[in-house]
Amino acid sequence: MAADKKGSHIKGTKKQLPDGWITGAFRYAIFPTDEQKQRLEMAFGCERKIYNEYVAGLVEHLTSIEFSGGFLTYKVPNYTTITNRFDFLDKSNDAFVYNDAKIRFQAAIKKYNETYGKRPLHYKKSVQKKMKAGYVPSLRDVKGLPKFHSKKQGGFSYTTNQTNGNIRIESRDGATFLRIPKFPEGIPVRLHRELPADGLIKKATIKREGDRYIVAISVDYPFEKLQLVEKVATSKITALDYSQSDLYMDSEGQKAEYPRFHELIGKRQRRLNKSLARMKERAMKDENGQPVYSKNYRQTVVHYQKTMAKAANQRNDFLHKRSHQITNDYDAIVVEDLDLSNLAQCLKLGKKLHDNGFGMFRNMLKYKAERKGKHYIVADRFFPSSKLCSACGTKKENLRLSERTYTCAHCQAVIDRDHNAALNLKNYGIRKLSNLGFLAAPVSS
Ligand SMILES: [Zn+2]
Repeated sequence: MAADKKGSHIKGTKKQLPDGWITGAFRYAIFPTDEQKQRLEMAFGCERKIYNEYVAGLVEHLTSIEFSGGFLTYKVPNYTTITNRFDFLDKSNDAFVYNDAKIRFQAAIKKYNETYGKRPLHYKKSVQKKMKAGYVPSLRDVKGLPKFHSKKQGGFSYTTNQTNGNIRIESRDGATFLRIPKFPEGIPVRLHRELPADGLIKKATIKREGDRYIVAISVDYPFEKLQLVEKVATSKITALDYSQSDLYMDSEGQKAEYPRFHELIGKRQRRLNKSLARMKERAMKDENGQPVYSKNYRQTVVHYQKTMAKAANQRNDFLHKRSHQITNDYDAIVVEDLDLSNLAQCLKLGKKLHDNGFGMFRNMLKYKAERKGKHYIVADRFFPSSKLCSACGTKKENLRLSERTYTCAHCQAVIDRDHNAALNLKNYGIRKLSNLGFLAAPVSS
């Protein structure tokens, strides 16, 4: 829902913001008491349980209709049908906890349909290999289907939406508290930066990362964007070509020098993973045959989550700094239009993080450019940035992926493949700016 400048909601509007308003996320550390931690963990657990029940229902449905690919239609049941089935689920929970599971699950289905809805069943690479050796795949091996959330991998979060001021920041007795539904006493929070004074809180996501608790508050607020740069010099245009190994290469031939966060922490992660597996194997079993985890095991799990959270934070810091720098240094940034779902395999941090650095990076570049009055240009999907010669414009039809150096048969230019592509993107941007009248010295053509 959008709000007008006085802060009242405009009925019937979705997502549209008043002119001059933007949405921003503000992350703060929160310090719940031990008792509050228990309640938060309970809420996370309930959220996960409901989500997993949705997945179980989906698997059952797909099995019964012998799903063989294509568009997936599944009517998601109401969460109350699930909460009624399990006594241990806290009925007094904030309804958003359960609703959130439903929203996330629906989003996962939507994502599946957008990516795989028009294709036959798609299996993971590792599974495809096993299938050649006679393995019969199950629905669990299908790529992109919503997965069960495990305790180890996280998903320790839930989102609660704003209705009538139920999310707010309060100060009393010299301390600051986060007020969210079911926590009327407030959770201590450290506001290392102020929320925008005229902002409207839309929702709050409470999460645990390792052993730290965090709230991400989404706020709509008025923001004075800088005026769009009207005359762009060609030296103030840069283009970034996506690179699998190093995030991107720019049109000056500079690499991103993207630290391989996953490799840096990978060793530690693998060691923790191994010891977890060992502990699981040795764990005592209860009367139902379920393992009883030791305190040591639980501590190792938290340690593992901390390692993952640290890597994600380091990567985000890097992406923020770099996008900040680029949008300061240049007046126009050109990127290619990528189908990022195909790239999900690349650049990922840990196998389970589903991290796509470049997708995040593009988003950051886009909104930072917009706020600073810079041009953010996305080349047309069919623009052959790799195949053109950046020196003479000849198109090479049969460029193989393995050719890391571009050699032009027409003008004999020899240039690094990614650098060549970045230069083509820059030329694309120059033409585009020229057509729109934003180039300092228009090119003739
Ligand atoms: Zn050439």
